[in-house]
Amino acid sequence: MGEIVLTADRTLMSNYHHNEFLGFGTCAPPNFIPEWLYSYLFFPPLQTHRGHPWTAPYGLRKAEAQLLKEGFKVDTVSPSHLQKHLGEAKVLGIHVMDPFGLGPASTTLASIFKKEPYLAKHFQALLSKPCIREAKQKNRLKVIVGGPGAWQFRYRESAVKELGIDCIVEGEAENVIGKLFKAAVEGQEIPRHYEVDVAETPSIEEIPDIVHPSINGLIEIGRGCCRGCQFCNVTLRPLRWYPVEKIERELNVNLDSGKVKGACLHAEDVMLYGSKNTLPNEEKLVQLHEMVVKRCEGISWSHCSLAAIASSPKLFEKLSEIILQKQSWWGVEIGIETGSPEIAKKIMPAKAHPFSAEKWHEVVVEGMGLAHDNKLVPACTLIVGLPEEKEEDVTKTMDLVDDLNGMRSLIVPLFFVPLGHLKSEDWFTNTKLNELHKQLLIQCAEHDFRWVDNLLDMSFSDKWYKRLTKEFYKGFSTIAKRKVREIE
Ligand code: SF4
Repeated sequence: MGEIVLTADRTLMSNYHHNEFLGFGTCAPPNFIPEWLYSYLFFPPLQTHRGHPWTAPYGLRKAEAQLLKEGFKVDTVSPSHLQKHLGEAKVLGIHVMDPFGLGPASTTLASIFKKEPYLAKHFQALLSKPCIREAKQKNRLKVIVGGPGAWQFRYRESAVKELGIDCIVEGEAENVIGKLFKAAVEGQEIPRHYEVDVAETPSIEEIPDIVHPSINGLIEIGRGCCRGCQFCNVTLRPLRWYPVEKIERELNVNLDSGKVKGACLHAEDVMLYGSKNTLPNEEKLVQLHEMVVKRCEGISWSHCSLAAIASSPKLFEKLSEIILQKQSWWGVEIGIETGSPEIAKKIMPAKAHPFSAEKWHEVVVEGMGLAHDNKLVPACTLIVGLPEEKEEDVTKTMDLVDDLNGMRSLIVPLFFVPLGHLKSEDWFTNTKLNELHKQLLIQCAEHDFRWVDNLLDMSFSDKWYKRLTKEFYKGFSTIAKRKVREIE
């Protein structure tokens, strides 16, 4: 048993049936589908061995790797097996993504349906487990929380105390978690909030390789982003790319476990792998993809930019040919954010680079057309209620969505959340929704319903049991479609 136990809540400890798009389902509040069925469809629990999940969230694996490197005894366990593992634990580390449902997708859905999303519900359920309270009383267990959603605790000060959290670590923590966990293990004082300073940000050499497999084979290929959008937290960190050898080592950890057969390459813009500016680096990208495709059954990307695709159509086609040797499509998340060049110029002036922000509409249409032709399926985000947004900006976004009609994709409108350089701005809520916003929301829902059956057919046609499950999702989509049309 470890002196340190690591875990995450049920919505994060899932492989989403090996389809990250389904992970969006954790942002929804309980709805017309019975909870047990909804949980199975969108975030089934991971398989475990003696309470240890076969795979775990990549961020949790990185924390585990760093703590192991520093000599701690670490146990990574499934949330449903916590009780058996807390006996001798001195510290419980919890990985968070969107603990209070304040992320853009969950805020939007919670605001519309006026209910708390599943992910917030499960985070609180985890912290409310009697075994944690008991371990706090008996062993003086300390609870340390970290991960991409750590910023949300700044907006929920009272919950920090109520949930018995001792320390929240915000930022890339490799260089600081060792000292924080050591102090906690030794029963010393630890700070309530620890914001990692830019000077403490780890270099590539300081970031350890994962030692146990990650969910769906997710592996980082780099950190940071050079585009500097004002509403984004990532932009506050330096840009670093992993050498291909480091990526291959982590790929081996996943594949050698026998629990993972594919890879999801994670970066803010996979198309810029190895690049020092906003122009893709052909040699590095081809080398990376050839290495990964040779070893894996399937590949997906976490995020990429339409500007990088549009700037290098031939290279993008070449990557698509490499990837499609073993699969019929691949997925990615892409930020469109607005159709208004004026807004683009103000808050994300480099998003269109190497093109000018004035050309944002054309860049999006060009990039999305190339994605469609080359079987890359994007889940795109739009931001509703950006500061200084005017009615004509919303109209321009609606014109853009119209132009994306024939392109296989999902388009998800998200309410503005004040992050990055805009963190002192106001939150956007449903009370600020005007008629145009509502039309935009309905337009996006109609776009998604147009494509969702096609996407389900592409995602769930290879195995008989998947074909069966597909019918449940189609049923869910039909009911959701009816509900949206009732609102109209
Ligand atoms: S391109 Fe994406 S990751 Fe980069 S700064 Fe903009 S929103 Fe953030």
